[in-house]
Amino acid sequence: STSFAPISHRTSASDPVSCTGGDGPLPVLGRDVRVPLATGGEVTYAALDYAASAPALQRVWDDVAAYAPYYGSVHRGAGHLSQLSTELFEQSRAAVAEFLGCREGDQVVFTRATTDSLNLLASVLPRGTRVFVFETEHHASLLPWRGHEVTYLDAPRTPQQAVATLESALHAAPRGPKLVCVTGASNVTGEIWPVRELARAAHRHGARLVLDAAQLAPHRPVDLRELDADWVALSGHKLYAPFGAGVLAGRADWLTGAEPYLAGGGASRRVVRRPDGGVDVEWHTGTARHEAGSPNVIGAYALAAACRALSEAGFARLAAREERLLARLRAGLAEVPQARVLSLFGADADRVGVLSFVVEGWDSSRLAAALADSYGIGVRDGLFCAHPLLRVLLGADADASGECGAPQDAPREGALDAVRVSFGAGTPDEHVDRLVTAVQALARRGE
Ligand code: PLP
Repeated sequence: STSFAPISHRTSASDPVSCTGGDGPLPVLGRDVRVPLATGGEVTYAALDYAASAPALQRVWDDVAAYAPYYGSVHRGAGHLSQLSTELFEQSRAAVAEFLGCREGDQVVFTRATTDSLNLLASVLPRGTRVFVFETEHHASLLPWRGHEVTYLDAPRTPQQAVATLESALHAAPRGPKLVCVTGASNVTGEIWPVRELARAAHRHGARLVLDAAQLAPHRPVDLRELDADWVALSGHKLYAPFGAGVLAGRADWLTGAEPYLAGGGASRRVVRRPDGGVDVEWHTGTARHEAGSPNVIGAYALAAACRALSEAGFARLAAREERLLARLRAGLAEVPQARVLSLFGADADRVGVLSFVVEGWDSSRLAAALADSYGIGVRDGLFCAHPLLRVLLGADADASGECGAPQDAPREGALDAVRVSFGAGTPDEHVDRLVTAVQALARRGE
């Protein structure tokens, strides 16, 4: 058999995850990147856009580099490396299942990312399913449900109100299959949603719940059993793995009961030509059903490596560190009279390391550009693919010209959007301190 070191979990003292110890950041790629400043000179880049894509953990990169020479096509190859890759692909699936607290019979389907996972789920909903989603969601949660009746729920102002709003909408709904799609943590405010309570409310009314954990999973444990959620969707590139792989994990029945998401090789068990000239297809019933084509083995492997690394580092430690940084950031912004932090649930809400704000006297895109050009800080500005939420947070005159994913280089006169700061396991204190100092100076100076 092939001996391959990265399959085993490394827990030695030289392990780059465990050796950091204490309260320091985990080693991530790009931590030493230097960027030029408009004022001359250069500075170490401060990546404060983790909510868009987090830098990969060095540990994940090392694991992938160790595996890369061995990789081969999965499932069908008779050769040694193909068999090894198949084994690693399935081990990766098992590692993700463990990370997400999957139940007996749950499936872990590898996808491209959260958007893909939710569109996959949308494609397998039983006929007549009613979908319930808060208007405050990221577009990836808000939009995939085309062809189904969707109830958009008004933005709640407290977690309790979220549960009450859902309860009354479900109560009023007719019989039939129902799905609730809810975020674990907002990509705009960082606020954590009462997922367990919402799942219980959903189940009380015979509905199922899918958790959009794109923003929650990098910061807090996500356990399907504990949260009582039916499915969870997440993205590897927000979870300290490289781009290209995500997951939809949860109940098998709707997945198995529907046509494959993609039709093609890998999803089909048997294809025969009929005498009338057509073809009959027998589809797989397991995870292969929705993974047609050659899967992203490296992406799945990296995602599983990230799950292992985060579990080893320990969410209690990661969350405590992040809360400390968040408190520092909020205290720093509180000293800027022109700054307003955006929030649905108020100052006491439980949050991950994601925070959006506006500064009076500054267009957000110009402020973000100034942070980059003069301080080497990478944040994001715009409406963050959550246009209805931004309208709630900023008022009806929020300008939707900051198209999701559109190039941000054209100045948008008078646009009312926000700046988002987001950080995580690899963020040193200095990055947050630099941002606070920069915002304080820029706010004083004005645009
Ligand atoms: N859901 C939330 C809450 C997000 O923040 C994002 C991305 O920003 C997505 C879903 C979509 O993730 P992806 O672009 O990886 O598909």
